[in-house]
Amino acid sequence: MIAVRGRFGKPCPCCDAPVQRILYADRETNYCARCQTGGQVLADRVLSQLLKKDWPRTIEEWEQIRGG
Ligand SMILES: [Zn+2]
Repeated sequence: MIAVRGRFGKPCPCCDAPVQRILYADRETNYCARCQTGGQVLADRVLSQLLKKDWPRTIEEWEQIRGG
Protein backbone atom coordinates (compact mmCIF):
# COMPACT_ATOMS: atom_id res chain seq x y z
CA MET A 1 0.00 0.00 0.00
CA ILE A 2 1.41 3.36 -1.01
CA ALA A 3 1.41 5.77 1.90
CA VAL A 4 -0.92 8.47 0.66
CA ARG A 5 -3.12 8.79 3.69
CA GLY A 6 -4.29 12.33 4.12
CA ARG A 7 -2.94 13.36 0.72
CA PHE A 8 -6.25 13.58 -1.13
CA GLY A 9 -6.05 16.09 -3.94
CA LYS A 10 -2.29 16.30 -3.71
CA PRO A 11 0.13 14.64 -6.10
CA CYS A 12 1.19 11.13 -5.30
CA PRO A 13 4.78 11.12 -4.03
CA CYS A 14 5.56 8.34 -6.46
CA CYS A 15 3.89 9.32 -9.73
CA ASP A 16 2.32 12.78 -9.27
CA ALA A 17 -1.13 11.48 -10.07
CA PRO A 18 -3.83 13.05 -7.90
CA VAL A 19 -4.47 10.98 -4.84
CA GLN A 20 -7.94 9.52 -4.80
CA ARG A 21 -10.27 9.67 -1.87
CA ILE A 22 -13.07 7.34 -0.99
CA LEU A 23 -15.71 8.40 1.45
CA TYR A 24 -18.07 5.75 2.60
CA ALA A 25 -20.20 6.13 5.68
CA ASP A 26 -17.81 7.87 8.07
CA ARG A 27 -14.67 6.24 6.74
CA GLU A 28 -12.13 7.89 4.49
CA THR A 29 -9.51 6.17 2.43
CA ASN A 30 -6.81 7.86 0.36
CA TYR A 31 -4.90 6.00 -2.26
CA CYS A 32 -3.10 6.34 -5.56
CA ALA A 33 -4.93 4.42 -8.23
CA ARG A 34 -2.09 4.73 -10.71
CA CYS A 35 0.66 3.34 -8.51
CA GLN A 36 -1.39 0.69 -6.91
CA THR A 37 -3.33 -0.57 -9.85
CA GLY A 38 -1.65 0.71 -13.00
CA GLY A 39 -4.49 3.14 -13.70
CA GLN A 40 -7.33 0.83 -12.87
CA VAL A 41 -9.31 1.27 -9.73
CA LEU A 42 -9.38 -2.06 -8.07
CA ALA A 43 -11.00 -3.00 -4.83
CA ASP A 44 -8.51 -3.98 -2.23
CA ARG A 45 -9.57 -5.90 0.82
CA VAL A 46 -10.90 -2.83 2.61
CA LEU A 47 -12.67 -1.43 -0.41
CA SER A 48 -14.24 -4.75 -1.14
CA GLN A 49 -15.69 -4.78 2.32
CA LEU A 50 -16.92 -1.22 2.02
CA LEU A 51 -18.28 -1.23 -1.47
CA LYS A 52 -19.29 -4.84 -2.00
CA LYS A 53 -20.25 -5.25 -5.61
CA ASP A 54 -20.87 -1.68 -6.67
CA TRP A 55 -17.38 -0.37 -7.06
CA PRO A 56 -16.15 1.31 -10.23
CA ARG A 57 -13.37 -0.17 -12.30
CA THR A 58 -11.65 2.93 -13.61
CA ILE A 59 -10.51 6.32 -12.42
CA GLU A 60 -12.97 7.90 -14.81
CA GLU A 61 -15.85 6.08 -13.20
CA TRP A 62 -14.65 7.18 -9.82
CA GLU A 63 -14.56 10.79 -10.92
CA GLN A 64 -18.10 10.55 -12.23
CA ILE A 65 -19.37 9.08 -8.98
CA ARG A 66 -17.47 11.43 -6.75
CA GLY A 67 -18.41 14.46 -8.84
CA GLY A 68 -22.08 13.59 -9.05
ZN1 LIG B 1 1.19 7.21 -7.48
